[in-house]
Amino acid sequence: VETATEFDTIAAISTPPGEGAISIVRLSGEEAIQDTQKVFSGKNLLHVASHTINYGHIIDPQTHQEIDEVMVSVMRAPKTFTREDVVEINCHGGIVATNRILQLLLSNGTRLAEPGEFTKRAFLHGRIDLSQAEAVMDLIRAKTDRSMQVALKQLDGNLAHLIKNLRQDILSVLAQVEVNIDYPEYDDVEEMTTRLLKEKALEVKQRIQQLLETAKQGKVLREGLATAIVGRPNVGKSSLLNHLLHEDKAIVTDVAGTTRDVIEEYVNVRGVPLKLVDTAGIRETADKVEKIGVERSKKAIDQADLVMLVLNSSEPLTTEDRQLLALTAKKKRLVLLNKGDLEQKIDLEELRKLLGSNEELLTMSVLKNKGLAELETKISKLFFGGIENSQTTVMVTNTRHIALLKRAEKALDAVLKGIEDNMPVDLVQIDMTSCWDLLGEITGDSYQDELLNQLFSQFCLGK
Ligand code: GDP
Ligand code: ZN
Repeated sequence: VETATEFDTIAAISTPPGEGAISIVRLSGEEAIQDTQKVFSGKNLLHVASHTINYGHIIDPQTHQEIDEVMVSVMRAPKTFTREDVVEINCHGGIVATNRILQLLLSNGTRLAEPGEFTKRAFLHGRIDLSQAEAVMDLIRAKTDRSMQVALKQLDGNLAHLIKNLRQDILSVLAQVEVNIDYPEYDDVEEMTTRLLKEKALEVKQRIQQLLETAKQGKVLREGLATAIVGRPNVGKSSLLNHLLHEDKAIVTDVAGTTRDVIEEYVNVRGVPLKLVDTAGIRETADKVEKIGVERSKKAIDQADLVMLVLNSSEPLTTEDRQLLALTAKKKRLVLLNKGDLEQKIDLEELRKLLGSNEELLTMSVLKNKGLAELETKISKLFFGGIENSQTTVMVTNTRHIALLKRAEKALDAVLKGIEDNMPVDLVQIDMTSCWDLLGEITGDSYQDELLNQLFSQFCLGK
Protein backbone atom coordinates (compact mmCIF):
# COMPACT_ATOMS: atom_id res chain seq x y z
CA VAL A 1 0.00 0.00 0.00
CA GLU A 2 1.32 3.39 -0.95
CA THR A 3 0.49 7.02 -0.32
CA ALA A 4 -0.29 7.58 -3.98
CA THR A 5 -3.87 8.50 -4.63
CA GLU A 6 -5.64 6.87 -7.47
CA PHE A 7 -5.74 9.81 -9.83
CA ASP A 8 -2.81 12.03 -8.91
CA THR A 9 -0.59 13.23 -11.72
CA ILE A 10 1.78 10.61 -13.06
CA ALA A 11 4.74 10.59 -15.42
CA ALA A 12 6.88 8.00 -17.16
CA ILE A 13 9.10 7.55 -20.15
CA SER A 14 6.76 6.05 -22.69
CA THR A 15 9.17 5.09 -25.42
CA PRO A 16 11.04 1.79 -25.16
CA PRO A 17 14.58 1.95 -23.84
CA GLY A 18 17.08 1.99 -26.65
CA GLU A 19 18.84 4.17 -29.12
CA GLY A 20 15.78 5.82 -30.70
CA ALA A 21 16.38 9.43 -31.71
CA ILE A 22 13.34 10.81 -29.91
CA SER A 23 11.98 9.73 -26.59
CA ILE A 24 8.80 10.81 -24.94
CA VAL A 25 8.04 11.60 -21.34
CA ARG A 26 4.33 11.39 -20.77
CA LEU A 27 2.29 12.94 -17.97
CA SER A 28 -1.34 12.40 -17.13
CA GLY A 29 -3.56 13.95 -14.50
CA GLU A 30 -5.06 17.22 -13.31
CA GLU A 31 -1.67 18.82 -12.72
CA ALA A 32 -0.01 17.53 -15.88
CA ILE A 33 0.18 20.93 -17.55
CA GLN A 34 1.16 22.87 -14.42
CA ASP A 35 3.80 20.29 -13.54
CA THR A 36 5.33 20.59 -16.99
CA GLN A 37 5.22 24.38 -16.89
CA LYS A 38 7.37 24.30 -13.72
CA VAL A 39 10.31 23.00 -15.75
CA PHE A 40 9.50 24.48 -19.15
CA SER A 41 10.67 27.65 -20.82
CA GLY A 42 8.75 28.75 -23.89
CA LYS A 43 5.09 29.64 -24.29
CA ASN A 44 2.99 29.50 -21.15
CA LEU A 45 1.51 26.03 -21.48
CA LEU A 46 -1.36 26.94 -19.18
CA HIS A 47 -2.69 29.24 -21.90
CA VAL A 48 -2.02 27.31 -25.07
CA ALA A 49 -4.89 25.66 -26.94
CA SER A 50 -5.56 21.97 -26.45
CA HIS A 51 -3.91 19.51 -28.83
CA THR A 52 -1.05 21.80 -29.79
CA ILE A 53 2.65 21.13 -30.02
CA ASN A 54 4.88 23.72 -28.41
CA TYR A 55 8.57 24.35 -28.89
CA GLY A 56 10.76 25.21 -25.91
CA HIS A 57 13.39 24.07 -23.44
CA ILE A 58 13.39 22.04 -20.27
CA ILE A 59 15.11 24.04 -17.55
CA ASP A 60 15.97 22.99 -14.02
CA PRO A 61 14.07 25.60 -11.96
CA GLN A 62 16.66 25.43 -9.15
CA THR A 63 19.85 25.77 -11.16
CA HIS A 64 18.37 27.38 -14.29
CA GLN A 65 20.42 24.85 -16.22
CA GLU A 66 19.07 23.93 -19.65
CA ILE A 67 18.50 20.20 -20.00
CA ASP A 68 17.07 19.64 -23.44
CA GLU A 69 15.39 21.21 -26.41
CA VAL A 70 11.87 19.80 -26.60
CA MET A 71 8.49 19.77 -28.32
CA VAL A 72 5.64 19.61 -25.85
CA SER A 73 2.21 18.30 -26.81
CA VAL A 74 -0.59 19.60 -24.62
CA MET A 75 -3.83 17.63 -24.71
CA ARG A 76 -6.63 18.58 -22.40
CA ALA A 77 -9.24 16.19 -21.05
CA PRO A 78 -11.42 14.52 -22.10
CA LYS A 79 -10.22 13.87 -25.63
CA THR A 80 -7.06 12.04 -24.56
CA PHE A 81 -5.98 8.47 -24.09
CA THR A 82 -6.54 8.55 -20.33
CA ARG A 83 -9.39 11.09 -20.51
CA GLU A 84 -7.27 13.24 -18.21
CA ASP A 85 -5.03 16.16 -19.14
CA VAL A 86 -2.06 14.65 -20.94
CA VAL A 87 1.31 16.19 -21.77
CA GLU A 88 3.92 14.54 -23.92
CA ILE A 89 7.43 15.93 -23.86
CA ASN A 90 9.34 14.93 -26.99
CA CYS A 91 13.02 15.03 -26.13
CA HIS A 92 15.90 14.94 -28.55
CA GLY A 93 18.82 14.40 -26.24
CA GLY A 94 18.77 10.62 -25.94
CA ILE A 95 18.04 8.48 -22.95
CA VAL A 96 20.23 10.39 -20.50
CA ALA A 97 18.46 13.69 -21.11
CA THR A 98 15.12 11.91 -21.06
CA ASN A 99 15.85 10.41 -17.67
CA ARG A 100 16.92 13.76 -16.31
CA ILE A 101 13.67 15.32 -17.47
CA LEU A 102 11.71 12.58 -15.75
CA GLN A 103 13.75 12.99 -12.55
CA LEU A 104 13.18 16.72 -12.68
CA LEU A 105 9.42 16.23 -12.91
CA LEU A 106 9.49 13.72 -10.08
CA SER A 107 11.44 16.04 -7.81
CA ASN A 108 8.93 18.78 -8.55
CA GLY A 109 5.87 16.89 -7.40
CA THR A 110 4.81 14.50 -10.16
CA ARG A 111 4.57 10.81 -9.25
CA LEU A 112 6.24 8.03 -11.22
CA ALA A 113 3.60 5.96 -13.02
CA GLU A 114 3.21 2.33 -12.14
CA PRO A 115 3.50 -0.16 -14.99
CA GLY A 116 0.40 0.06 -17.15
CA GLU A 117 -1.07 2.91 -15.15
CA PHE A 118 -1.85 5.10 -18.16
CA THR A 119 -3.81 2.29 -19.73
CA LYS A 120 -5.45 1.48 -16.40
CA ARG A 121 -6.71 5.05 -16.17
CA ALA A 122 -8.05 4.85 -19.70
CA PHE A 123 -9.97 1.80 -18.58
CA LEU A 124 -11.17 3.23 -15.28
CA HIS A 125 -12.39 6.36 -17.03
CA GLY A 126 -14.37 4.25 -19.46
CA ARG A 127 -12.19 5.19 -22.40
CA ILE A 128 -11.49 1.56 -23.35
CA ASP A 129 -12.82 -1.81 -22.23
CA LEU A 130 -10.68 -4.46 -20.67
CA SER A 131 -10.11 -6.47 -23.81
CA GLN A 132 -8.94 -3.29 -25.50
CA ALA A 133 -6.61 -2.60 -22.62
CA GLU A 134 -5.17 -6.04 -23.06
CA ALA A 135 -4.85 -5.42 -26.75
CA VAL A 136 -2.62 -2.47 -25.94
CA MET A 137 -0.46 -4.85 -24.00
CA ASP A 138 -0.37 -7.25 -26.91
CA LEU A 139 0.55 -4.37 -29.19
CA ILE A 140 3.50 -3.57 -27.06
CA ARG A 141 4.62 -7.15 -27.30
CA ALA A 142 3.59 -7.85 -30.85
CA LYS A 143 6.38 -9.65 -32.60
CA THR A 144 5.50 -8.94 -36.18
CA ASP A 145 3.38 -6.59 -38.21
CA ARG A 146 0.85 -9.32 -38.64
CA SER A 147 0.49 -9.77 -34.90
CA MET A 148 0.13 -6.03 -34.76
CA GLN A 149 -2.87 -6.12 -37.06
CA VAL A 150 -4.59 -8.70 -34.93
CA ALA A 151 -3.96 -6.66 -31.83
CA LEU A 152 -5.21 -3.53 -33.54
CA LYS A 153 -8.37 -5.25 -34.63
CA GLN A 154 -8.99 -6.23 -31.05
CA LEU A 155 -8.28 -2.68 -30.07
CA ASP A 156 -11.17 -1.72 -32.29
CA GLY A 157 -13.33 -3.62 -29.93
CA ASN A 158 -14.20 -6.53 -32.21
CA LEU A 159 -13.94 -9.18 -29.55
CA ALA A 160 -15.66 -6.98 -27.01
CA HIS A 161 -18.47 -6.34 -29.44
CA LEU A 162 -18.96 -10.02 -30.12
CA ILE A 163 -18.87 -10.95 -26.44
CA LYS A 164 -21.31 -8.17 -25.59
CA ASN A 165 -23.75 -9.53 -28.15
CA LEU A 166 -23.44 -13.03 -26.75
CA ARG A 167 -24.06 -11.77 -23.25
CA GLN A 168 -27.04 -9.77 -24.40
CA ASP A 169 -28.51 -12.91 -25.96
CA ILE A 170 -27.98 -14.90 -22.80
CA LEU A 171 -29.42 -12.14 -20.69
CA SER A 172 -32.61 -12.00 -22.69
CA VAL A 173 -33.06 -15.74 -22.28
CA LEU A 174 -32.38 -15.48 -18.58
CA ALA A 175 -34.96 -12.73 -18.35
CA GLN A 176 -37.43 -14.90 -20.21
CA VAL A 177 -36.72 -17.80 -17.86
CA GLU A 178 -37.27 -15.51 -14.92
CA VAL A 179 -40.64 -14.48 -16.28
CA ASN A 180 -41.63 -18.09 -16.91
CA ILE A 181 -40.65 -19.10 -13.40
CA ASP A 182 -42.64 -16.23 -11.97
CA TYR A 183 -45.76 -17.18 -13.89
CA PRO A 184 -45.90 -20.95 -13.61
CA GLU A 185 -49.66 -20.96 -14.09
CA TYR A 186 -49.25 -21.04 -17.85
CA ASP A 187 -49.33 -24.45 -19.47
CA ASP A 188 -46.12 -26.11 -20.57
CA VAL A 189 -44.05 -23.36 -19.06
CA GLU A 190 -41.47 -25.75 -17.73
CA GLU A 191 -40.99 -27.41 -21.08
CA MET A 192 -40.89 -24.12 -22.98
CA THR A 193 -38.31 -22.68 -20.60
CA THR A 194 -36.13 -25.73 -20.90
CA ARG A 195 -36.27 -25.65 -24.66
CA LEU A 196 -35.37 -21.99 -24.68
CA LEU A 197 -32.36 -22.56 -22.45
CA LYS A 198 -31.22 -25.54 -24.44
CA GLU A 199 -31.40 -23.76 -27.77
CA LYS A 200 -29.50 -20.77 -26.48
CA ALA A 201 -26.88 -22.91 -24.73
CA LEU A 202 -26.20 -24.81 -27.95
CA GLU A 203 -26.00 -21.65 -29.98
CA VAL A 204 -23.66 -19.82 -27.63
CA LYS A 205 -21.54 -22.92 -27.24
CA GLN A 206 -21.07 -23.13 -30.96
CA ARG A 207 -19.98 -19.52 -31.15
CA ILE A 208 -17.55 -19.96 -28.28
CA GLN A 209 -16.06 -22.97 -30.02
CA GLN A 210 -15.57 -20.92 -33.16
CA LEU A 211 -13.73 -18.33 -31.13
CA LEU A 212 -11.57 -20.97 -29.49
CA GLU A 213 -10.61 -22.35 -32.86
CA THR A 214 -9.05 -19.03 -33.74
CA ALA A 215 -7.04 -19.16 -30.54
CA LYS A 216 -4.51 -21.62 -31.86
CA GLN A 217 -3.50 -19.36 -34.69
CA GLY A 218 -3.66 -16.44 -32.32
CA LYS A 219 -1.15 -18.09 -30.04
CA VAL A 220 1.23 -18.52 -32.94
CA LEU A 221 0.95 -14.85 -33.77
CA ARG A 222 1.57 -13.78 -30.22
CA GLU A 223 4.26 -16.15 -29.15
CA GLY A 224 5.84 -17.18 -32.39
CA LEU A 225 5.76 -20.59 -33.98
CA ALA A 226 8.26 -22.82 -32.24
CA THR A 227 10.37 -24.13 -35.09
CA ALA A 228 13.11 -26.76 -35.08
CA ILE A 229 15.60 -27.23 -37.87
CA VAL A 230 16.79 -30.84 -37.75
CA GLY A 231 18.91 -33.11 -39.90
CA ARG A 232 22.07 -35.14 -39.65
CA PRO A 233 25.42 -33.35 -39.66
CA ASN A 234 26.53 -31.45 -42.76
CA VAL A 235 23.21 -31.31 -44.57
CA GLY A 236 23.07 -27.51 -44.36
CA LYS A 237 21.18 -26.70 -41.14
CA SER A 238 23.49 -23.90 -40.05
CA SER A 239 23.47 -22.46 -43.52
CA LEU A 240 19.68 -22.43 -43.54
CA LEU A 241 19.58 -20.92 -40.06
CA ASN A 242 21.98 -18.18 -41.09
CA HIS A 243 19.97 -17.49 -44.15
CA LEU A 244 16.82 -17.12 -42.09
CA LEU A 245 18.57 -14.96 -39.53
CA HIS A 246 20.36 -12.61 -41.88
CA GLU A 247 18.19 -12.11 -44.88
CA ASP A 248 16.82 -8.64 -44.13
CA LYS A 249 14.35 -9.95 -41.58
CA ALA A 250 14.48 -8.34 -38.24
CA ILE A 251 15.43 -10.57 -35.38
CA VAL A 252 12.91 -9.44 -32.88
CA THR A 253 13.95 -9.65 -29.29
CA ASP A 254 11.59 -8.66 -26.55
CA VAL A 255 11.48 -4.87 -26.68
CA ALA A 256 8.87 -4.50 -24.01
CA GLY A 257 10.56 -6.81 -21.57
CA THR A 258 13.16 -5.59 -19.18
CA THR A 259 15.67 -8.40 -19.27
CA ARG A 260 18.16 -8.76 -22.02
CA ASP A 261 19.72 -11.95 -20.82
CA VAL A 262 17.09 -14.26 -22.24
CA ILE A 263 17.37 -13.56 -25.90
CA GLU A 264 15.12 -15.74 -27.91
CA GLU A 265 15.78 -15.88 -31.57
CA TYR A 266 12.87 -14.90 -33.71
CA VAL A 267 12.76 -14.60 -37.41
CA ASN A 268 9.95 -13.01 -39.27
CA VAL A 269 9.12 -15.04 -42.33
CA ARG A 270 6.53 -13.11 -44.33
CA GLY A 271 4.72 -12.15 -41.19
CA VAL A 272 5.02 -15.50 -39.46
CA PRO A 273 7.09 -15.13 -36.32
CA LEU A 274 9.25 -18.23 -36.04
CA LYS A 275 10.70 -18.83 -32.63
CA LEU A 276 13.74 -20.93 -33.33
CA VAL A 277 14.25 -23.91 -31.05
CA ASP A 278 17.70 -25.03 -29.99
CA THR A 279 19.72 -22.92 -32.37
CA ALA A 280 22.57 -23.31 -29.90
CA GLY A 281 22.62 -26.99 -30.76
CA ILE A 282 22.95 -26.22 -34.42
CA ARG A 283 25.74 -23.76 -33.85
CA GLU A 284 27.69 -25.94 -31.47
CA THR A 285 27.69 -28.87 -33.78
CA ALA A 286 28.91 -26.72 -36.63
CA ASP A 287 32.22 -26.31 -34.80
CA LYS A 288 32.63 -29.50 -32.84
CA VAL A 289 33.02 -33.02 -34.11
CA GLU A 290 29.48 -33.79 -35.05
CA LYS A 291 28.09 -36.78 -33.31
CA ILE A 292 24.73 -36.15 -31.76
CA GLY A 293 22.07 -35.70 -34.38
CA VAL A 294 19.14 -37.81 -33.29
CA GLU A 295 19.31 -37.56 -29.49
CA ARG A 296 19.38 -33.81 -29.33
CA SER A 297 16.98 -33.51 -32.23
CA LYS A 298 14.41 -35.52 -30.27
CA LYS A 299 14.21 -32.78 -27.69
CA ALA A 300 13.96 -30.02 -30.26
CA ILE A 301 11.30 -31.95 -32.16
CA ASP A 302 9.26 -32.39 -29.00
CA GLN A 303 9.20 -28.67 -28.34
CA ALA A 304 8.45 -27.65 -31.89
CA ASP A 305 5.18 -26.69 -33.55
CA LEU A 306 6.93 -26.90 -36.90
CA VAL A 307 9.89 -29.04 -37.94
CA MET A 308 12.11 -28.34 -40.90
CA LEU A 309 13.84 -31.60 -41.69
CA VAL A 310 16.88 -31.04 -43.89
CA LEU A 311 18.19 -33.85 -46.13
CA ASN A 312 21.19 -33.88 -48.41
CA SER A 313 20.09 -34.74 -51.92
CA SER A 314 23.66 -35.35 -53.05
CA GLU A 315 24.04 -38.39 -50.81
CA PRO A 316 21.98 -41.56 -50.38
CA LEU A 317 19.57 -41.69 -47.45
CA THR A 318 21.21 -42.84 -44.23
CA THR A 319 19.86 -44.61 -41.18
CA GLU A 320 19.91 -41.32 -39.35
CA ASP A 321 17.81 -39.69 -42.08
CA ARG A 322 15.28 -42.50 -41.78
CA GLN A 323 15.18 -42.18 -38.00
CA LEU A 324 14.54 -38.46 -38.24
CA LEU A 325 11.84 -39.00 -40.85
CA ALA A 326 10.13 -41.44 -38.49
CA LEU A 327 10.55 -39.18 -35.46
CA THR A 328 8.91 -36.23 -37.21
CA ALA A 329 6.19 -38.16 -39.03
CA LYS A 330 3.41 -36.93 -36.75
CA LYS A 331 4.62 -33.34 -36.64
CA LYS A 332 3.75 -30.44 -38.86
CA ARG A 333 6.87 -30.61 -40.95
CA LEU A 334 8.60 -29.46 -44.10
CA VAL A 335 11.04 -31.89 -45.69
CA LEU A 336 13.80 -29.96 -47.41
CA LEU A 337 16.04 -31.54 -50.00
CA ASN A 338 19.12 -29.39 -49.79
CA LYS A 339 22.21 -29.23 -51.99
CA GLY A 340 20.09 -29.38 -55.12
CA ASP A 341 22.99 -27.75 -56.95
CA LEU A 342 25.00 -30.99 -56.70
CA GLU A 343 24.46 -34.25 -58.52
CA GLN A 344 21.47 -36.04 -57.04
CA LYS A 345 22.28 -39.29 -55.28
CA ILE A 346 19.33 -39.63 -52.94
CA ASP A 347 16.76 -42.29 -53.85
CA LEU A 348 13.64 -40.17 -54.37
CA GLU A 349 11.40 -43.16 -54.79
CA GLU A 350 12.40 -44.56 -51.44
CA LEU A 351 12.10 -41.16 -49.83
CA ARG A 352 8.60 -40.58 -51.18
CA LYS A 353 7.50 -43.86 -49.62
CA LEU A 354 8.66 -42.57 -46.25
CA LEU A 355 6.56 -39.43 -46.56
CA GLY A 356 2.86 -38.89 -45.95
CA SER A 357 0.56 -39.24 -48.92
CA ASN A 358 0.10 -35.50 -49.51
CA GLU A 359 3.50 -34.44 -48.34
CA GLU A 360 5.63 -32.40 -50.67
CA LEU A 361 9.40 -32.25 -50.93
CA LEU A 362 11.05 -28.90 -51.33
CA THR A 363 14.20 -29.06 -53.40
CA MET A 364 16.61 -26.26 -52.70
CA SER A 365 20.15 -25.08 -52.48
CA VAL A 366 20.91 -22.84 -49.57
CA LEU A 367 24.38 -22.29 -50.97
CA LYS A 368 23.11 -21.00 -54.32
CA ASN A 369 20.09 -19.31 -52.77
CA LYS A 370 17.66 -21.48 -54.73
CA GLY A 371 14.25 -22.54 -53.47
CA LEU A 372 14.41 -20.38 -50.37
CA ALA A 373 11.69 -18.00 -51.50
CA GLU A 374 9.49 -21.04 -52.12
CA LEU A 375 10.23 -22.24 -48.61
CA GLU A 376 9.14 -18.91 -47.20
CA THR A 377 5.96 -18.92 -49.24
CA LYS A 378 5.27 -22.41 -47.98
CA ILE A 379 5.71 -21.40 -44.35
CA SER A 380 3.52 -18.37 -44.77
CA LYS A 381 0.77 -20.35 -46.53
CA LEU A 382 0.89 -23.04 -43.92
CA PHE A 383 -0.08 -20.57 -41.23
CA PHE A 384 -1.95 -17.80 -42.88
CA GLY A 385 -3.92 -20.00 -45.24
CA GLY A 386 -6.80 -20.22 -42.82
CA ILE A 387 -6.47 -16.76 -41.41
CA GLU A 388 -6.24 -14.89 -44.70
CA ASN A 389 -9.73 -15.95 -45.64
CA SER A 390 -11.17 -14.82 -42.38
CA GLN A 391 -9.61 -11.35 -42.19
CA THR A 392 -12.82 -9.81 -40.95
CA THR A 393 -13.44 -12.11 -38.04
CA VAL A 394 -12.16 -11.81 -34.54
CA MET A 395 -9.15 -13.72 -33.41
CA VAL A 396 -8.66 -14.64 -29.77
CA THR A 397 -5.02 -14.22 -28.89
CA ASN A 398 -5.02 -13.66 -25.19
CA THR A 399 -4.42 -16.51 -22.75
CA ARG A 400 -6.78 -15.11 -20.17
CA HIS A 401 -9.55 -14.77 -22.74
CA ILE A 402 -8.98 -18.33 -23.89
CA ALA A 403 -9.23 -19.65 -20.34
CA LEU A 404 -12.45 -17.73 -19.74
CA LEU A 405 -14.00 -18.95 -22.97
CA LYS A 406 -13.19 -22.51 -22.00
CA ARG A 407 -14.81 -22.05 -18.61
CA ALA A 408 -17.83 -20.47 -20.22
CA GLU A 409 -18.07 -23.48 -22.52
CA LYS A 410 -17.99 -25.77 -19.47
CA ALA A 411 -20.78 -23.79 -17.85
CA LEU A 412 -22.85 -24.32 -21.00
CA ASP A 413 -22.12 -28.05 -20.85
CA ALA A 414 -23.47 -27.99 -17.31
CA VAL A 415 -26.61 -26.27 -18.58
CA LEU A 416 -27.11 -28.94 -21.22
CA LYS A 417 -26.38 -31.76 -18.79
CA GLY A 418 -28.81 -30.28 -16.27
CA ILE A 419 -31.55 -30.17 -18.87
CA GLU A 420 -30.85 -33.72 -19.90
CA ASP A 421 -31.03 -34.87 -16.28
CA ASN A 422 -34.31 -32.99 -15.75
CA MET A 423 -32.86 -30.72 -13.11
CA PRO A 424 -35.11 -27.93 -11.83
CA VAL A 425 -34.95 -24.89 -14.09
CA ASP A 426 -33.63 -22.55 -11.43
CA LEU A 427 -30.57 -24.77 -11.01
CA VAL A 428 -29.94 -24.81 -14.73
CA GLN A 429 -30.33 -21.08 -14.69
CA ILE A 430 -27.41 -20.78 -12.27
CA ASP A 431 -25.04 -22.34 -14.79
CA MET A 432 -26.32 -20.09 -17.54
CA THR A 433 -25.75 -17.06 -15.32
CA SER A 434 -22.25 -18.28 -14.60
CA CYS A 435 -21.57 -18.42 -18.33
CA TRP A 436 -22.79 -14.84 -18.61
CA ASP A 437 -20.47 -13.78 -15.78
CA LEU A 438 -17.45 -15.51 -17.27
CA LEU A 439 -17.95 -13.83 -20.63
CA GLY A 440 -18.28 -10.54 -18.81
CA GLU A 441 -14.87 -11.02 -17.29
CA ILE A 442 -13.38 -10.85 -20.77
CA THR A 443 -14.60 -7.33 -21.33
CA GLY A 444 -14.21 -6.32 -17.72
CA ASP A 445 -17.92 -5.96 -17.13
CA SER A 446 -17.63 -8.06 -14.01
CA TYR A 447 -14.07 -7.37 -13.07
CA GLN A 448 -12.55 -7.59 -9.64
CA ASP A 449 -9.87 -5.23 -8.42
CA GLU A 450 -7.52 -8.16 -8.01
CA LEU A 451 -7.72 -9.07 -11.62
CA LEU A 452 -7.33 -5.48 -12.68
CA ASN A 453 -4.17 -4.86 -10.77
CA GLN A 454 -2.65 -8.07 -11.94
CA LEU A 455 -3.39 -7.20 -15.53
CA PHE A 456 -2.16 -3.67 -15.50
CA SER A 457 1.00 -4.42 -13.61
CA GLN A 458 2.00 -6.56 -16.59
CA PHE A 459 2.21 -3.51 -18.79
CA CYS A 460 5.53 -1.92 -19.32
CA LEU A 461 6.18 1.35 -17.64
CA GLY A 462 4.93 4.37 -19.51
CA LYS A 463 1.97 2.82 -21.27
P1 GDP B 1 24.94 -28.52 -40.80
O1 GDP B 1 26.01 -29.37 -40.22
O2 GDP B 1 23.73 -29.30 -41.11
O3 GDP B 1 24.66 -27.32 -39.98
O4 GDP B 1 25.48 -28.03 -42.22
P2 GDP B 1 26.21 -26.67 -42.62
O5 GDP B 1 25.22 -25.59 -42.82
O6 GDP B 1 27.31 -26.41 -41.63
O7 GDP B 1 26.78 -27.04 -44.04
C1 GDP B 1 27.73 -28.07 -44.21
C2 GDP B 1 28.47 -27.79 -45.49
O8 GDP B 1 27.60 -27.89 -46.60
C3 GDP B 1 29.07 -26.41 -45.56
O9 GDP B 1 30.33 -26.49 -46.17
C4 GDP B 1 28.09 -25.63 -46.42
O10 GDP B 1 28.70 -24.57 -47.13
C5 GDP B 1 27.62 -26.69 -47.37
N1 GDP B 1 26.31 -26.42 -47.93
C6 GDP B 1 25.22 -25.97 -47.30
N2 GDP B 1 24.19 -25.85 -48.18
C7 GDP B 1 24.64 -26.24 -49.38
C8 GDP B 1 24.05 -26.33 -50.68
O11 GDP B 1 22.88 -26.02 -50.91
N3 GDP B 1 24.86 -26.79 -51.68
C9 GDP B 1 26.16 -27.14 -51.48
N4 GDP B 1 26.85 -27.55 -52.52
N5 GDP B 1 26.72 -27.03 -50.27
C10 GDP B 1 26.00 -26.61 -49.24
ZN1 ZN C 1 19.38 -15.31 -48.87
